[in-house]
Amino acid sequence: MLILLTNDDGIESPSFRDLSHHLSGLGRLVIVAPDRNQSGKSHAVSDFHNPPRLHELGPDWYALEGTPSDCVHFAVNRLLDNAPDLVISGINMGSNLSEDVTYSGTVGAAMEAAIRGIPSIAVSLVGQPPWQFDAAAKYTRILLNDWLSRILPDGTFLNINVPNISFDRLKPPLITRQGRQITPPFQRSYDKRTKGFWKANSRNSSAVMEDHHAVQKGHISVTPLMADFTQTSALTALGNWPNFQDKKDTKLRERGLTSARSRSRMVSEQLIKRGISNQRVLKVMQEIPRHQFVDEALASRAYSDATLPIGEGQTLSQPYTVARMTEALELNGRETILEIGTGSAYQTAVLSELCHTVYTIERLPLLGKTARRRLEMMGISNVKFFIGDGSQGWPEQRTFDRILVTAGAPIVPEKLTAQLAPNGILVVPEGDKQSQYIMRLTRTAAQELIKERLEACRFVPLIGKDGWE
Ligand code: SAM
Repeated sequence: MLILLTNDDGIESPSFRDLSHHLSGLGRLVIVAPDRNQSGKSHAVSDFHNPPRLHELGPDWYALEGTPSDCVHFAVNRLLDNAPDLVISGINMGSNLSEDVTYSGTVGAAMEAAIRGIPSIAVSLVGQPPWQFDAAAKYTRILLNDWLSRILPDGTFLNINVPNISFDRLKPPLITRQGRQITPPFQRSYDKRTKGFWKANSRNSSAVMEDHHAVQKGHISVTPLMADFTQTSALTALGNWPNFQDKKDTKLRERGLTSARSRSRMVSEQLIKRGISNQRVLKVMQEIPRHQFVDEALASRAYSDATLPIGEGQTLSQPYTVARMTEALELNGRETILEIGTGSAYQTAVLSELCHTVYTIERLPLLGKTARRRLEMMGISNVKFFIGDGSQGWPEQRTFDRILVTAGAPIVPEKLTAQLAPNGILVVPEGDKQSQYIMRLTRTAAQELIKERLEACRFVPLIGKDGWE
């Protein structure tokens, strides 16, 4: 296991000694930290034209002339051969609670790691010097035992605040939410220590289950954070503003049939109730205007629990099936996906939001061309299109992290399994022409294929050389 340690207090921070002591049994520890104090630098990165300079101080011990986020960036992109399994930012000399997390360099570094899909935690001590790094380092080690055997939703990182007291006096950790500041973070008053006129001195809300409340009571506060700042509850409200909608949608919207509210209902009634739990999948399906992928005359039915015609005798699968197959792909945002059966490109649009690039193949030229134009008009640019027989895979020889087939195959086409990368997942409906099962094939690192049957489904046939006649 490879652990990257960083902070915003700088490479001289004594906290590295205690962290190294408590974490040493876990694997290789690499320290890359700013060469000086970078507190309050948030998620800033340095000028890309003048990359920060790195100083090697010893084995796996580096000082960077940059910000905490630079340290993560630099370690991952330049210094280390493999991405770290974990990034720990801290132990910060001072709390990072409520909205202070938006100023914090400690939190900024952990966020940078989370954005790159690397598990990360920010650890801070709450109180005044002398700092009890040993207690926080010891707790970090205990937390890692749990952390390493569990899975958190993608993009999550943990913000941990530990009261600055001895380990024996610490109260058990509480899972908290980020609290709020109820006075401005900086007050205008003369500060003797810094000889400045602005003093960091906010008062925080102290409701039960909030970070500040937990540490005030002597507990360790553990807050799950993420870099996605979207205020999801405002999506519905904004979606109902007249000027944010396509004009031709107006009538339907007035009847409430294509609005964000219909999508919310679709998500809660058809997806969550039937067991779809991947938050990223739910979010994307809440956002993508499904009614724009079908003929205007059918738009009012776009959010119903039904398969819809898309012309040329083909269909758009019901929302649940799209969600179930997407969830089965277990996407983390970095994958390259091959999709067979572009159809209306609704599924393509969903995938495009959840991965790096989608390569999609449609057999019928009219559908393929309409789909391409549709996604271009929506500003979706990470999709490559091909018209042809998808049962033969992508025309160039290459592999994909994920493959999704949205037409029913008699047996899983061999050309597709051949294009599945190690650790890749292929999801495909397999069966006779009338009914199939959604199958998931996982290629292990040892190149073995594990096949699972997920559930019954009904798709139009995959027509082609390795499909139906
Ligand atoms: N995922 C699509 C969507 O979101 O609208 C719906 C796909 S529809 C159920 C199946 C599609 O697979 C049809 O558009 C059909 O023309 C296409 N298809 C069938 N056989 C194919 C093949 N061999 N290669 C590529 N596309 C194929």
